[in-house]
Amino acid sequence: MNSAPGDDPAAHAGERGRTSETLLSLVAEGVAAGGVAVVAEGVEVSYAELDALSNQAAHRLRSRGVGPESVVGVRLERGLEMVVALVGILKAGAAYLPLDPEYPKDRLQFMVEDSGTELVIEPGDLTGLEESRWPVDVVVRPENAAYVIYTSGSTGRPKGVVIEHRGIVNRLRWMQDEYSLTPQDRVLQKTPFGFDVSVWEFFWTLSAGATLVMARPGGHRDPQYLAEIMADGITTVHFVPSMLRAFLAGPVPPLPVRRVLCSGEALPDELAERFHRVIGAELHNLYGPTEASVDVTATRCLPGETVTIGYPIANTRIHLLDGELTIAGVQLARGYLNRPSLTAEKFVPNPFAQEPGERLYRTGDRARQREDGAFEYLGRFDHQVKIHGNRIELGEVEAALHEHPAIAAAAAAVHGDRLVAYCVYRAGAAPSTAELRAHLARTLPDPMLPAVWTSLAALPLTPSGKIDRNALPAPDGGRPELGVAYVAPRNAAEQEIAEIWADALGVSPVGVHDPFLELGGRSLAATRICARVSRVTGRRLSVADLFTAPTVAELAEVVGAAPILAEVHSGPREISAAQHRMWFLDQLSGPSATYTMYEAYRCVGELDVEVLRDALAQVVRRHESLRTTFRSRRGEPELVVSADADVPLAVVDGSAEEIVDAEIGKPFDLARGPLLRCTVIRSAPGRFTLLAVIHHVIADDTSMEVFWRDLAECYAGRASALPELTASYVAQDHAGLEYWKSALTGAPMVIELPDSLPRPARQAQLEGAVEFSVPQHVVSALDAVAAEAGATGFMALLAAFVLDLRRATGRDDLVVGTFAGNRPSVEAEDQIGLFVNTLALRVRVPGDPAYREVLDAVREVVLGGFRHQDVPFDQVVTAVRPPRDLSRNPVAQVAFQSLGSLADRLRLDGVRAEPWRAGQGGNPFDVLVTVREHPDGVAGTLHYDRALFAEAAAKAMADRFVQVVGTVAAVPCTRGSELPG
Ligand code: AMP
Repeated sequence: MNSAPGDDPAAHAGERGRTSETLLSLVAEGVAAGGVAVVAEGVEVSYAELDALSNQAAHRLRSRGVGPESVVGVRLERGLEMVVALVGILKAGAAYLPLDPEYPKDRLQFMVEDSGTELVIEPGDLTGLEESRWPVDVVVRPENAAYVIYTSGSTGRPKGVVIEHRGIVNRLRWMQDEYSLTPQDRVLQKTPFGFDVSVWEFFWTLSAGATLVMARPGGHRDPQYLAEIMADGITTVHFVPSMLRAFLAGPVPPLPVRRVLCSGEALPDELAERFHRVIGAELHNLYGPTEASVDVTATRCLPGETVTIGYPIANTRIHLLDGELTIAGVQLARGYLNRPSLTAEKFVPNPFAQEPGERLYRTGDRARQREDGAFEYLGRFDHQVKIHGNRIELGEVEAALHEHPAIAAAAAAVHGDRLVAYCVYRAGAAPSTAELRAHLARTLPDPMLPAVWTSLAALPLTPSGKIDRNALPAPDGGRPELGVAYVAPRNAAEQEIAEIWADALGVSPVGVHDPFLELGGRSLAATRICARVSRVTGRRLSVADLFTAPTVAELAEVVGAAPILAEVHSGPREISAAQHRMWFLDQLSGPSATYTMYEAYRCVGELDVEVLRDALAQVVRRHESLRTTFRSRRGEPELVVSADADVPLAVVDGSAEEIVDAEIGKPFDLARGPLLRCTVIRSAPGRFTLLAVIHHVIADDTSMEVFWRDLAECYAGRASALPELTASYVAQDHAGLEYWKSALTGAPMVIELPDSLPRPARQAQLEGAVEFSVPQHVVSALDAVAAEAGATGFMALLAAFVLDLRRATGRDDLVVGTFAGNRPSVEAEDQIGLFVNTLALRVRVPGDPAYREVLDAVREVVLGGFRHQDVPFDQVVTAVRPPRDLSRNPVAQVAFQSLGSLADRLRLDGVRAEPWRAGQGGNPFDVLVTVREHPDGVAGTLHYDRALFAEAAAKAMADRFVQVVGTVAAVPCTRGSELPG
């Protein structure tokens, strides 16, 4: 093999002799460990078999004259044969040259000729091996070439990088020291083997005795396929950041993956954060060029930290020369095959040499070093770019453009993540985009084909006559000239898909007949579209579908007929403390109806049940929480979000009273779901009751409002008018916790109400409820009192409740629970979920104050509490450490809440709906008073634990409350002592 300066490997003796290992000795270690070496297309191959097969392949190659320093091409798709070929070539002593069958024929031909490859392994060449299964007798040295990988060349010619065993061995040894792969690990081989990341996928795995799981050909682009294969025990996987982004856009099932390694292009902070939210695995960022045996720096990315490319790996030194990152050490390539001057330009004598002859590779990357020693990647000095992880010299694209006879001048640039071609045509020439693309596709692989074509009258030039790249116009994002007329989306499905296309392609508007490729569609855009469409529709879609149905209209049809995704979700989510508690109690008691929330409406009008059924399905698809279940994993709850859930809509005839009672008493199974069910109870023609029953673990009162609104909008065919749901996250409010600690310090943690029965040792939580109402004229009078005090109606009612509680308990310092909606953001207001949080309000007014004074105190406490509503109640409890007592709710045993009016919640087209029954189980308080606005005043419910109070006592409490409200509304200066005893 000719290369410079590597004709004589001794020329850089300083990097020699640190190790006598080769890739072969590493693989031998894996073989010694035994077990399954490769899984391809479901077939498992043991290390012993792989060893024998690759020996046979090596014998065959030896018989064709192959030996050390020969280059053997491999033109195979991903699969077992590929692994046998690579190991076999190395065993024959030779270096392998990956020839990706997806590359253009002309490019492959060039690579074969340029490298002097004498032999190319084609499909079928390694079948029917009858050679000896024993090792071949050939000496392979650390300084022999192990592989040759071609990268884009700035002058228009790709260049072959020659990597020697010692370099890649150092890289793999470091990797094993750093991450300790074990024979139990399964590594996904999905990187196309023309990229050097694949080298560690193959050989790190095989050296550690782990299992190499081969993704099917093309599978690396298919987010759904990747999710499925990864779910099957993959522990280690690599992603180029842009592919990781596309992958995370799709439905991601719970994954057993332990470590995800990123490299190849910059990893944005925000993507790393997203990763941490969706996938509970280690994330590492690695950096390096092909010319230095894959990677030379690395670091682990921790949540909340800025991403860097980290620290130099073993036997590697990084020097910054005028801001350029340069590399020294054992991993440097021998050089570019047959390109001595280019090699001399990039591999220069090392001014910091520790041993004579050491070289430095100039990466062309801009970097800086932080104080802690970590390097930060800042960009490039030249016109090498990365698009979706593919290394592209813009010069090579420009050279290919210039070869077209119609093009007088051309430039290429990257905008966002799209490659843009700028062409100046010769006079009279006007080639079509399709023709130009076909011309380039003869020599350039898919990622190097421009996504946007712009014709210019002349290229902008700098005063020195070079192309002024800064003056090249950015693409306008408009729909390009196409051979087809624009046809707007004709239904909701097309609309949804067109929007996803527009977003992924950066082109708007997208017509339903616009061909994907002509809109600039490349494979990563296809991946992204697939992921998003799968996620939005809950249908299983592959990238191949997009290429067989390459327009929005065709894809919409394919999606409609595609299978519904099995259980998938977006990774382990955080379970809130409140959900954890409900799950835990559910585990103790088994499936139950304890935490059931329900609302029933009496309706008059014609209902189209089928339309309602569709609407319900749409709502379920829209809200992840309605597709959520909770399964137990090693004693802990795990959130599982399915792509679709079968939420029942039963239609029955009969007595609404009885059926509602029966429905709300039916248990939910948290592990199996669904956690929502709906019933239409028909009582007479044009009359029915609509009931929704939902588990509190996925909803709260605001959620019910959202549910009915969304259902009605979908029923009316206005699903697209609903606000888009975006995830929202809350930062932890540490200051808030301090607020609660200081508010509750010294507060009484126990309230005993009079007239209660002996308290059981453990809370029984037997649901009891009595209804009451406050007439409108009293409510109006109280509102006036409240307004004068700058308080709300809720505060005024709560103050009346507190005033009476003081009298009943004889205490002037009390803690009353309430609930805050706790929606962390405006976006969250459109979501169904359990956001509500318990607040412990401490009201302390010494002496015998008048109602007005209590109202002032309540106002202050409520305002303060709601300002710090996002601190989970469980954290407050932990912080204030009440005495452990299973017989009562911690901190607050009495609570008071105001819920939204039910009056306008359900507005189905053509139907008049009146709220009838509503309720919520799982009340942990001794007494909980709920008030809701009502057209006739305030409707209230006093919930109580039947183990603690007789119904008569509860009724008396409710009556008393109504009476006190009446008294203070009329005479706001009433003192507690003046209330009737
Ligand atoms: P390749 O030879 O294909 O591995 O490409 C090497 C180039 O990719 C480097 O010179 C960088 O420009 C870029 N690169 C690789 N890894 C990273 C990374 N972790 N962060 C930023 N850029 C990277």
